[in-house]
Amino acid sequence: MHRHRSSLGALLHHVHVSGPLSRAALAMRMGVNRSTILALTAELVAAGLVGEQPPSGTTGAGRPSLVVRPSPRFFVLAFDVAVDRLTAARVGLGGTILDRRSAPRSRIGVDLETVVRKLVSLGRSLIDAAPPAAVCVGIGASYCGMIRPGDGMVRYGPELGWVDQAFGAELAEALDLGLPVAVGNEAHLGAMAEHERGAGVGVPDLIYLHGDVGVGGGILVGGKLLGGDAGYGAEVGHMLVNPVDGRACLCGSQGCLEAETGEYALLAAAGRAPGPSGADAVRAVARDAVTGDPAAARAVAEIGDWLGIGVANLINLFNPGVVIFGGMLRDVYEAAAPQVAARIARHAMPVSRERARLRLSALAGDATLLGAADLGFAALLADPLRTPALR
Ligand SMILES: [Zn+2]
Repeated sequence: MHRHRSSLGALLHHVHVSGPLSRAALAMRMGVNRSTILALTAELVAAGLVGEQPPSGTTGAGRPSLVVRPSPRFFVLAFDVAVDRLTAARVGLGGTILDRRSAPRSRIGVDLETVVRKLVSLGRSLIDAAPPAAVCVGIGASYCGMIRPGDGMVRYGPELGWVDQAFGAELAEALDLGLPVAVGNEAHLGAMAEHERGAGVGVPDLIYLHGDVGVGGGILVGGKLLGGDAGYGAEVGHMLVNPVDGRACLCGSQGCLEAETGEYALLAAAGRAPGPSGADAVRAVARDAVTGDPAAARAVAEIGDWLGIGVANLINLFNPGVVIFGGMLRDVYEAAAPQVAARIARHAMPVSRERARLRLSALAGDATLLGAADLGFAALLADPLRTPALR
């Protein structure tokens, strides 16, 4: 791509992930001089993508470096298809969730058509509620399954029982906004979002683990998502940890990490029924474990043990700077940190683990949604002045 246009995208990307930045800070981050920043900013201001203003708290003395801020007038629709819940949000340039809608969803009878119809209804209501001047520049979606890059085909979503469903194409057609829908795996997107604006900022080698009913993984190597040969890499939930007497996994195997650490394993170990919301049930066990309920404490310790074995394997394989626990694993890890730490100390090699930090997801329930939003913004950030909405 033309170098000038990619510089425009780079500048916009900086203010999109970091928020308002002075021209001086932008010049430093991009390694260009201030007159280049001035020219690039002028073009983005003319397109309405950014605004400039004096920094707050400055008085008349001298000429302070103007602050460049992204315009929230430009937004994307971000969708999150989790096992129990559908979420849609209007996310502004700058990564701010401006408005959101969600709907609980039964685990039974979750066909493509029903999911698309519900998402379209949530999306339409967001568009209807948007200010008249607001412009939709992209659409991104997070899905709890294996996604074919390029066309958003759900190849395999064991939790919903989906095989080869044209989710991205069907959603784009039903929304009818003249924009494609970029779809990604929830844990891949969570990893990217935590790296851009969460617990993994500045850490190019990180592992994000996302617990829903299953366990997903997103692995960044040198700042790039590990996709594998065809985009289906980092299925850490199906790493074999207990081949001898492991629980049956939805994938057809047994003793997978997700079979031993997912929602069903935790609730079964605690002797509890899933109830209408798996997330609430998991949270309740984690909370009760901390406050001294013996059955909950035993269940959390058991699950924490398997989680620690999985993380120890990942640390030996990838030598990550940070391992981030997201989704329901955020609650599980909070309660089971001692078991996880003990397994890592026992099974991960000292040299592999000496710099690895374990962190809770900073974006919490929004990690996958914000990752989906960034997929929606990708075209705009790649070439800001050529986005369809601006032509
Ligand atoms: Zn499995």
